[in-house]
Amino acid sequence: MLHEQKSFAPHPQGYGRLYVVATPIGNLQDISDRVRTVLGTVTIVAAEDTRQTQKLLNHLRLTTPLISFHMHSPPAVKSKLVERLKAGDDVALVSDAGTPAISDPGYALIEKCTQEGIAVIPVPGANAALTALVASGLPTDHFLFLGFLPRTASKKEEQLRALRHLPYTLILYEAPHRLKETLHLIVQIFGERKAVLARELTKVHEHFLRGTLHDLLDYVEQHEVRGELTLLIAPAPPAESREPWREENAYKKHLMKELVAEVEALRGLGIRLKEAVRIVGRLTGTDPKMLYRAYHGKTSED
Ligand code: SAM
Repeated sequence: MLHEQKSFAPHPQGYGRLYVVATPIGNLQDISDRVRTVLGTVTIVAAEDTRQTQKLLNHLRLTTPLISFHMHSPPAVKSKLVERLKAGDDVALVSDAGTPAISDPGYALIEKCTQEGIAVIPVPGANAALTALVASGLPTDHFLFLGFLPRTASKKEEQLRALRHLPYTLILYEAPHRLKETLHLIVQIFGERKAVLARELTKVHEHFLRGTLHDLLDYVEQHEVRGELTLLIAPAPPAESREPWREENAYKKHLMKELVAEVEALRGLGIRLKEAVRIVGRLTGTDPKMLYRAYHGKTSED
């Protein structure tokens, strides 16, 4: 059945409105006049983390009451909010940062409101994915937002394999302590591809790393990466120009670099080169001769 929402007309049953309000992802100056007005005029703010949102309301000198609404809230909280909306209260939905319902709670409430004929009004603002995309230098005409990848390695791998030939810029969120492992897997599955790591967007330490997937992996292996991260991967090249052997070679080269680092670490412990090469070769199933050549800066193709 078709439902029509006239966002700013009085509701025939006197229902209130649900405002989906984006808040800054770091820089409080990104808050708009409209956000301030809405947060100041609704009856209640449903917040993912009331302490976090209280700070924002204090900053805006607003005293609107807060109610906690997060991923683990019991269903009764959603029902109570819907009841209040039907009784004529306006409710603002906010998450800790950025746009609610985007890798954040909110979807279930929004869906329920649309089913119940309650007007859902978007109040746009910051979103890490789009903020990263527009400054990444990667194609912006077609993109796919993935949010967080699955946690388990097998599901993560399955999803990445399904995505690797898509002609869209891929945008994903990742936690700093999982970045290295995720990048390893991506490099293994995607091969050589342009990529960008956007960190601490809109904050004082905002930082972009633009290069290839291998460049990013090298970087995260040598630096401790902290803060909030958004990773972007360039679209797959057209099928006719794809060269799987080149991707494979790039990954092999990367692995060899890591093994050479292991040899160097053993040398640092006073172990002779020949012995160090033999140990790493045996532990990793690598031909010691190849390892020896790599140690002296020669690739297997030299
Ligand atoms: N709803 C939010 C939005 O609209 O962007 C996203 C919430 S999600 C739980 C949080 C993730 O978004 C972080 O782990 C990080 O991957 C990404 N993120 C949030 N703020 C960021 C920032 N300032 N810089 C880079 N990435 C950010």
